[in-house]
Amino acid sequence: MRVVKTIDEVRKQVKEWRAQGLTVGLVPTMGYLHEGHASLIDASHRDNDRTVVSDFVNPMQFGPTEDLESYPRDIERDAALVEAHGGDIIFNPEPSEMYHEGFSSFVDMNVLTQELCGLSRPVHFRGVCTVVSKLFNIVQPDRAYFGKKDAQQLAVIKHMVDDLNMDIQIIGCPIVREKDGLAKSSRNTYLSPDERKAALVLSQAIFMGMDMVRKGETNVSAITDAMKQHISAEPLAKIDYVKIVDLATMQQITDIDRPALCAIAVYIGKTRLIDNFFTEDV
Ligand code: AMP
Repeated sequence: MRVVKTIDEVRKQVKEWRAQGLTVGLVPTMGYLHEGHASLIDASHRDNDRTVVSDFVNPMQFGPTEDLESYPRDIERDAALVEAHGGDIIFNPEPSEMYHEGFSSFVDMNVLTQELCGLSRPVHFRGVCTVVSKLFNIVQPDRAYFGKKDAQQLAVIKHMVDDLNMDIQIIGCPIVREKDGLAKSSRNTYLSPDERKAALVLSQAIFMGMDMVRKGETNVSAITDAMKQHISAEPLAKIDYVKIVDLATMQQITDIDRPALCAIAVYIGKTRLIDNFFTEDV
């Protein structure tokens, strides 16, 4: 397992693998890896001969008041996790390696990004689409792995690959949770002990919504109202959104009469956390 800092080194390595007829999987991450990321690396290791994990806190997907500076970073710890899960290289570039002076080309999308996180984070998906396109061009993987934890991101990437005819299979992997239900996230490290306890309202609300859908409830307001009520009872929690959208368009619906996504974003203190479920998975 090697940590690679430059685009040229990644390209050289991938070319060698290609010359040997090997398949390549890519797992894009922002680092500070946990078992959620590990599950993606495991999936890639299962499906491909070689796995590249990118480890890059992408400045372009953070808004001006967001946590770019404080985002946790620990490349040595990440390297140990990637090695333990069968990854072959970590691509860990400096921002200047990814965005040279004068950088001015972007990949953007005006569908799927108008709702949910796209509303509260207006520059986010342009940053995500641009960096993921660059990573796809650099690594040229056969398959790329994304977590359902970031459900809107997964939908956006699938749409982008389809729109731009990128010959890459996009694989969505299930959400990995802590034992008590909280979805694993690098941002959980921001939480104080009290906030960590309070953060449980997210997964509790998700499980509550899943249960209602399982029992046959299709009325969106009935489900989201119950979830909002549960979250609002926690004094440290402030709701950004609790919504159910059409999985294909990310537009809000009133009745669950098609494959849908229930997604929530909640501030616990200053930390913004997300969680979701796909009605198809219930
Ligand atoms: P991040 O480093 O947060 O940008 O995440 C990198 C990838 O890991 C994304 O595709 C995420 O959806 C995925 N991921 C993050 N947390 C989890 C989790 N708890 N379960 C599954 N996948 C996850």
